[in-house]
Amino acid sequence: MNDIQLQATNIHKRFGDREVLKGISFAAKAGDVVTLIGSSGSGKSTFLRCLNLLEQPHEGEMSLGGEALKLVRDRDGSLKAADTQQLQRWRARLAMVFQNFNLWAHMTVLENVIEAPIHVLGKPKAEAVERAQALLARVGVSHRAHVYPAQLSGGEQQRVAIARALAVDPEVMLFDEPTSALDPELVGEVLKVMRDLAGEGRTMVVVTHEMGFAREVSNHCLFLHQGKVEEEGNPKEMLLRPQCERLQQFLSGGL
Ligand code: ADP
Ligand code: MG
Repeated sequence: MNDIQLQATNIHKRFGDREVLKGISFAAKAGDVVTLIGSSGSGKSTFLRCLNLLEQPHEGEMSLGGEALKLVRDRDGSLKAADTQQLQRWRARLAMVFQNFNLWAHMTVLENVIEAPIHVLGKPKAEAVERAQALLARVGVSHRAHVYPAQLSGGEQQRVAIARALAVDPEVMLFDEPTSALDPELVGEVLKVMRDLAGEGRTMVVVTHEMGFAREVSNHCLFLHQGKVEEEGNPKEMLLRPQCERLQQFLSGGL
């Protein structure tokens, strides 16, 4: 038995002639919190989006809980899912939280959270509502269940987005700079929810600029530079004593 939950091997991605991911590999075991750091444009979002096929990679393999994602060559040369049912399940198993929340504006908070459990997982509505209410309580927004996203603060919207991601019982949660769009005073409430999830043993992959979070919460860190992993390791060690010059520059604010 191996206990690797999410594995990606040799992921390449091009936009036009530009290769923006040049062979990225990583593996997360159950309960791991992996952070991805690197300057803007280094490929962090593209890599995260390849993991759930929001972007189609040109090369690479992925597996989740030991199950390989079946990929076939698309007409444009990139790889697409061979099996749309597997892809739909895959995306629920790897729930994503975005920088700009991406809540559905025309649905209430509660409707946002019950949508995928009902329409993707086929749960009965009453069960989905009960679970959604428990999740909203857990992220501290149960009193906002019947309002629309626009009426919420950014921190509340992001906590709803986390509840929505949790509602499909994902095996791994992907976060793409979840606090970057927030006013500084709202960052803490979202990081607290994420710390709690990590403390409960959730497997998470987090793109972040919050070095404190990377150091204190993650147990593995990848530094991306121009589409490659330039350095990786235990964040406590690596962020304190970066080996490569690029990471040294990045951490001192020069990149
Ligand atoms: P990061 O998240 O680390 O800031 P991205 O993954 O967003 O970096 O981007 C990596 C590179 O790919 C950048 O040069 C960006 O301009 C380019 N890129 C990202 N998305 C697209 C796209 N849809 N079309 C063309 N180029 C893109
Ligand atoms: Mg990005």
